[in-house]
Amino acid sequence: MCWICENMRHNKYKVLLVEDEANIRNLVATMLETEGYQTILADSCSNAKTMYASYLPDLIILDLGLPDMDGMNLLDYIRKDSLTPIIVLSARTNENDKIAALDRGANDYITKPFGSGELLARVRAALRNNRFSADEGRLPGGKFILKGMEIDYDARRIFIDGNEVKLTQTEYNIVTLLSENCGKMMTYAAIIKAIWGGYEQEGSIKKLQVNMANIRKKIGDKPGEQNYIANELGVGYRLNE
Ligand code: CA
Repeated sequence: MCWICENMRHNKYKVLLVEDEANIRNLVATMLETEGYQTILADSCSNAKTMYASYLPDLIILDLGLPDMDGMNLLDYIRKDSLTPIIVLSARTNENDKIAALDRGANDYITKPFGSGELLARVRAALRNNRFSADEGRLPGGKFILKGMEIDYDARRIFIDGNEVKLTQTEYNIVTLLSENCGKMMTYAAIIKAIWGGYEQEGSIKKLQVNMANIRKKIGDKPGEQNYIANELGVGYRLNE
């Protein structure tokens, strides 16, 4: 019976899918509907604005190459007054396009072609992230729990599978920042600004990478395995759902 509950739980989520290519739109809509999400479809920016205003979706999946204007315009339009999670789904694979979309407020970025498993995981993560944000990133009791990871924000302690992991202050601050944005791809610049205040292209990224390598070693992440922290080279880091 569990799958019914699962579907019913998902059913409250409305996803606005903005995509002008009919076969991709239908493919993604089918993937989402199979999981019990309601889909609202739009094939242009102007159409999407109308649908957004009428249905107030819980999540937006946004293509960038749209016939009337660039999807980035819609991103800016939504972000003016709303934190509705937005996942960009684009054929643009350039790092700078990804960084621009993330820094302008997209929660995540998926490049075409993509698998249904990947898309659905990112959708779940973005919706989950939105629930954390609504609660200022804290679960009741000042704790964050993700699989075997537990963060006690009040005590500033982190546990993996019940064992405490000793992190430096900086390492702890980085993990906390990622946990408060769980599921969201954080660009290098966004993390560096939040942790150290300033940002300089070369030195700062190196410093972040060194800290991140230490964190991943301490929490037991290994290359090529299902890990807590995912790295997209040249773009940023995400704490995985
Ligand atoms: Ca397109």
